[in-house]
Amino acid sequence: MTQLIELKGVAKRYDGTGAPALGPLTLSVARGEALAVTGPSGSGKSTLLNLVAGLDRPTDGTVTVAGRRIDRLSEHALARFRREHIGMAFQFFNLLDDLTVADNIQLPARLTGTGRREAASRADELMEMLGIRRHARVHPSRLSGGERQRVGVARALVNRPELLLADEPTGALDTASGHDVRELLRDLHRGGQTIVLVTHDLSLAETVASRAIHLVDGRLARDTRAGAVR
Ligand code: ADP
Repeated sequence: MTQLIELKGVAKRYDGTGAPALGPLTLSVARGEALAVTGPSGSGKSTLLNLVAGLDRPTDGTVTVAGRRIDRLSEHALARFRREHIGMAFQFFNLLDDLTVADNIQLPARLTGTGRREAASRADELMEMLGIRRHARVHPSRLSGGERQRVGVARALVNRPELLLADEPTGALDTASGHDVRELLRDLHRGGQTIVLVTHDLSLAETVASRAIHLVDGRLARDTRAGAVR
């Protein structure tokens, strides 16, 4: 199986002293895997996601995503790499409230030079798939948390990224919306989407993940494949 993500001897220190916040860590994620990253607060989950997303650089080691050594790319090249290969559904990447749902979803496609018609057609397809088409012309502030999360996932997918990263995708949601987002991520995984998601939500990890890793103090404490997870 080809590896989509390869971390070799990766460590991240935010200061010069003590143990690294993450690592040293060697980890591969194959195409098509849905990997849940769990662990207590402060264990390095966000640090790991940021390194894979190219939002931060390791202090040591190499980060290869979709065959590219991203730890060595310039900021400019990294931004481009992210737009082309990675979809991010992070809570802090908020939707733009002065745009409609459809325009929010189309935005990353328009920013990478996709034509208006093609961007609109991809957004339509995603809204259909995620059950939010009736909200196309609505502004995000009118939607429930679960609906907004779906819009965020649609926006993350519009450039057809090889890798979808999600940070606590059910974190702020009520039970029903959390259930919907779990189903959505499970369907995406079944459709072949590679997903890495950070979560405290064990039922999310159990429903969606084909593999779960558990971090403690920046180290890999457990690595469990599906079957054992489910
Ligand atoms: P988690 O996502 O599991 O809660 P983090 O990756 O956010 O863990 O943090 C891992 C460790 O790194 C923690 O001790 C945290 O305080 C530290 N850390 C995270 N980000 C920064 C930063 N920007 N500057 C300094 N320390 C940080």
